[in-house]
Amino acid sequence: MENGFVHVYTGNGKGKTTAAIGLAVRAVGAGKKVYIGQFMKSDAYHEIKALRQHLPAITLEQYGDGTCLVTKKSLQDHDYQKAKAGLERVSDVLRHDNYDVVIADEINVAAYFGLVSETEILALIDQRPPTTELVLTGRYATQAVMDKADLVTEMTEVKHYYQKGILARDGIER
Ligand code: ATP
Ligand code: MG
Repeated sequence: MENGFVHVYTGNGKGKTTAAIGLAVRAVGAGKKVYIGQFMKSDAYHEIKALRQHLPAITLEQYGDGTCLVTKKSLQDHDYQKAKAGLERVSDVLRHDNYDVVIADEINVAAYFGLVSETEILALIDQRPPTTELVLTGRYATQAVMDKADLVTEMTEVKHYYQKGILARDGIER
């Protein structure tokens, strides 16, 4: 069995989640067993629809209901409960389920918003079986998480049409 590594896709520029989904598609194409868990996001994101319809071999679960991913809004009890349940789920998957690739989408944002702790993310990394590839996405990854990763890519926002007032579009941003 080959060794796996810990990836972090962070930064303010576009492309973190789509990079992780791209990796998932490549991995499932190679016959690997892939798990994607999404923190905070609702099913408004079209990657959910695409994967469910076209790539059912990828296990996809969501632990949120659409909290904003960029600006911290008032969080409710259920946001905390869902994130906590999500964290437990990723932990279970890592410890028991033999996935080749495990993606925790927006987990860094969940930590930034205080829904999960940095310590809990570091513990997840420790629970990774050596053959599993673990991908942690989301802006605001902490230094300790990046220090513990094997690969860190920071998407830099050189330009974004958000600044021209163009909001998230179906099939492009969500
Ligand atoms: P992608 O999903 O296209 O790969 P990403 O994962 O890098 O992008 P995130 O930082 O996770 O992007 O942003 C998640 C969502 O938050 C975006 O799909 C968009 O709906 C919204 N968003 C991102 N940046 C901004 C911004 N500067 N202002 C407002 N909304 C934003
Ligand atoms: Mg994202």
